[in-house]
Amino acid sequence: MAELMGSWKRDKLCAEVTEQDIGKELTLMGWVARVRNMGGILFVWLRDRSGMIQLVFDANHMDGKTYELAESLRSEYVLAVKGSVIMRDASAVNQQLKTGTIEVQVKEAKLLNESATPPIYTDDSVNENEAVRLKYRYLDLRRPSMQNMLMLRSKTINAIRLHMINSGFVEVETPIMTKSTPEGARDFLVPSRLHPKKFYALPQSPQIYKQLLMLAGLDRYFQFAKCFRDEDSRADRQPEFTQLDLEMSFVEPKDVQDTVEGAFKAVFKEIKGLEIKLPLPRMTWKEAMVSYGSDKPDLRFGLKITEHSEWAADCGFSIFESAVKNNGIVCAIKVDGAGANLSRKDMDALGEFVKTYHVKGLAWLAVNEDGSYRSSFAKFIPEEKMSVLLEILQAKPTDAIFLIADQKLTALNAMGQLRVKLGKQLNLIDATKDQLLWITEFPLLEWNEETKRYTAAHHPFTMPMEEDFDLLDTHPEMVRAKSYDLVYNGVEMGSGSIRIHASELQERMFNWLGFTHEEAWERFGFLLEAFRYGTPPHGGFAFGIDRLMMLLTGTDSLRDVIAFPKVQNASCLMMDTPSLVHEEQLTQLHLKTLK
Ligand code: ASP
Repeated sequence: MAELMGSWKRDKLCAEVTEQDIGKELTLMGWVARVRNMGGILFVWLRDRSGMIQLVFDANHMDGKTYELAESLRSEYVLAVKGSVIMRDASAVNQQLKTGTIEVQVKEAKLLNESATPPIYTDDSVNENEAVRLKYRYLDLRRPSMQNMLMLRSKTINAIRLHMINSGFVEVETPIMTKSTPEGARDFLVPSRLHPKKFYALPQSPQIYKQLLMLAGLDRYFQFAKCFRDEDSRADRQPEFTQLDLEMSFVEPKDVQDTVEGAFKAVFKEIKGLEIKLPLPRMTWKEAMVSYGSDKPDLRFGLKITEHSEWAADCGFSIFESAVKNNGIVCAIKVDGAGANLSRKDMDALGEFVKTYHVKGLAWLAVNEDGSYRSSFAKFIPEEKMSVLLEILQAKPTDAIFLIADQKLTALNAMGQLRVKLGKQLNLIDATKDQLLWITEFPLLEWNEETKRYTAAHHPFTMPMEEDFDLLDTHPEMVRAKSYDLVYNGVEMGSGSIRIHASELQERMFNWLGFTHEEAWERFGFLLEAFRYGTPPHGGFAFGIDRLMMLLTGTDSLRDVIAFPKVQNASCLMMDTPSLVHEEQLTQLHLKTLK
């Protein structure tokens, strides 16, 4: 039977008790983690979020009723005890526990609550099925690893908030029930009871609000913002996630980047005890694509891509030659020492791998110890021409060389994917490194083959680079944006840009994106109107807190760093959401579901 706490007041968390407390009488409360009954003496581990402490129930030191209570204890019962802290015998010291040199000699106890037998273990020793863990998430969160993660997340948010406040930012909350924002995903919609047939959209980000806050004169805004994007499920996506969202007035990219870098520095110091060197390195999008085949290059290892179109133009191998003739490229990476380790079968598997990135195939060459080589393509090319290539690439015995020929971005992207695969497969990545870098000057627009229209590469509020203004009407695809991404160990942490702050340019931008004057005003009229009233130059950034936590805790699942996550099909196994609602609710919302 559950008892009330009455006048008992907890003195400390379980693992906060130390040798300094020896001789003191303390009141402790927590969950029963483990019971060992030695007959006449009972050892109980009491647990809370701080850790555990051993309680000793000795039949000779307490009344019969208390000992009886101790004998009834089961895992996860909620217990309060009063007792004195004593030193353990040297032979009984437990190095695994933070409180392993001490224990509490119990005098009185209250059973605050019983517990049914939990469907999952609440310690970290057992690997439970994830679906069951998520169904009983409240029990799963009792596991020390999950509690540590939540405490670490709180500390991380705190470090960031402190940095932002100290840098002169104002924290402002923006609405969750809003209008669609153009981050490029599908919206979650909320039907309106008061306005039949009308819907609110959940924000994909507070983008428009934060720009309006700059117009309002807030100067520096930040928020830990919940964002909602109805995207098709992917392992590393959640339909709702948290971003640190910020915006600043009268700034250039470097000012925004400095603020974001400062936040990362604060987090790395607080959480990992590491000093990151600032400013972080910067690389243009073009350089990243050409040298690493990715707009989020992992620089913890080499394998730089090199281009050999000039050599390939008349190399004798028709596949290479025609790629170059059709304005494509031939690019390569060289992997020191890999020639000796990769078999023919490995090469074939890598060939299949690159084909999934829309290139026709992979040409490879492995230099043997004696300088001779095995190759998938050398037989098509005269020997002297091959020697030239090997010389350009400075190939040595045991090196492996991979070549891809295709349209420029297709070839580079496939090569970039191959680079990362080889980096992992051949253990070339230094996992102890923390590599942060900025990628800058992204293309402003992307061509969408399906809609035969340009779309904004970042979002439609991004400012083109002044140097490229003239290209906007003639070569829109060549225009670079004042945008920047922060990349950490090959993962995109966030993006931002300097924004367009003039109404006319913003409207022209909407036109480039295919909106007519009327459409632009219908969707974004409030913004175009607002921009007429003295909008300061401004820019900002947002980065994913969940993704940051993933990297800080070294897990590869977003679900591990969110207290109550959704699974791949966007449902919550614990609350069983989404769920059906009463017919009456639908009627109030003027909705009918199709049978
Ligand atoms: N709103 C953008 C995003 O969520 C970030 C930004 O441009 O500030 O990606």
